[in-house]
Amino acid sequence: MKKHYLLTPGPTPVPPEVLAELSLPVLHHRTSEFGEIFTRVSEGLKYVFKTEGDVYVYASSGTGAMEAAVVNILSPDDKALVVSTGAFGDRWAKIIRAFGLTPDVISVEWGEAADPAAIEDYLKKNPSTAAVFVTHTETSTGVVNDLEKIGRIVAATDAVLIVDAISGLGGEPLLKDDWKLDVVVSSSQKGLMLPPGLSFISLSEKAWLAAEKSRLPKFYWDVKRMKKSALDKETPFTPAVGLFVALAKALDMMKSVTLEKMWAEYLLMAEAARDGIRALGIEPFAKSPCRVVTSAKVPDGIEGGKIVKMMRLDYGVSIAGGQERLKGKIIRLAHMGYITRPDILVGFAALEMTLKRLGYKFAAGAGVAAVEEKLK
Ligand SMILES: *Cc1c(COP(=O)(O)O)cnc(C)c1O
Repeated sequence: MKKHYLLTPGPTPVPPEVLAELSLPVLHHRTSEFGEIFTRVSEGLKYVFKTEGDVYVYASSGTGAMEAAVVNILSPDDKALVVSTGAFGDRWAKIIRAFGLTPDVISVEWGEAADPAAIEDYLKKNPSTAAVFVTHTETSTGVVNDLEKIGRIVAATDAVLIVDAISGLGGEPLLKDDWKLDVVVSSSQKGLMLPPGLSFISLSEKAWLAAEKSRLPKFYWDVKRMKKSALDKETPFTPAVGLFVALAKALDMMKSVTLEKMWAEYLLMAEAARDGIRALGIEPFAKSPCRVVTSAKVPDGIEGGKIVKMMRLDYGVSIAGGQERLKGKIIRLAHMGYITRPDILVGFAALEMTLKRLGYKFAAGAGVAAVEEKLK
């Protein structure tokens, strides 16, 4: 028999209370029962996004909401800036290019955070910029970007600030309204304790002005349709009803814990994970580490892919390796959503057993002990 521990930065484990909701009979979506769920979800999402504005729900993975942000804000001749700190920052540029635009891209070395001063400088030189695209927590490297500072810079210009908070929402502090983030997108399977299948978008008034004028083609993703249907507590097309019901439950759970307490808990787990990594003689990878995933350099002479595979197949513990240029070079362990302190200990125990078998030399138990010390 094997028990499965999902410690990947998406999907993440789902609490039993939420799984139980997924086993309920399917509701029809044009009913007052669904309207009640819709209202609970809308209110709960506003709480998690820290916004007074509406948050809309699509039936898609997170990338769908990223595409929605692009097609609802931009027009064919717009100037767009992408600030890329890794694979997900690059995805913004890929989506924009898919619609025929050529964005300017400011890239940093992977593992580093975006430099707000570089964005400020770019916007001074390019005052006609229509939108700036950034990533909250760059899941591919484990870095968090300073959205508060970036928000202040972009708010002083005509550009709309668009944020991918797909892995950060719920785990890393994000105050959508206070930080003047115009468009924030996220999805269900990372910090929100749900399976994949829902994505979210929230727009500020400045973003709505751009959305009214946007001329990129769109149909399913059109937020104006979402806004209209929301007046009737509905979505324009069939929602993922079961996931909606489960989301209402997950949001209730988050509200009862409070976001602030969740943020503090993930920070503690992130610090514990970094202590554990260092105690094993391994270097953390991210220069400005986020709270929701810890990235670590694979020790010399060991294949990163082998660590991930052995942990999953022999111990039932799933972590992630590196993506694209970091393939084989880093490992990533998540502490977001329903991942809790004992899960981190299980992760480190499995990591140590795996490293030992792969011939890496370290003091047995050192990583687990360091994690215990921080989490006790
Ligand atoms: C997971 C993730 C995505 C992609 O989301 P999908 O749900 O796989 O489409 C995008 N951005 C970030 C930062 C992510 O962590």
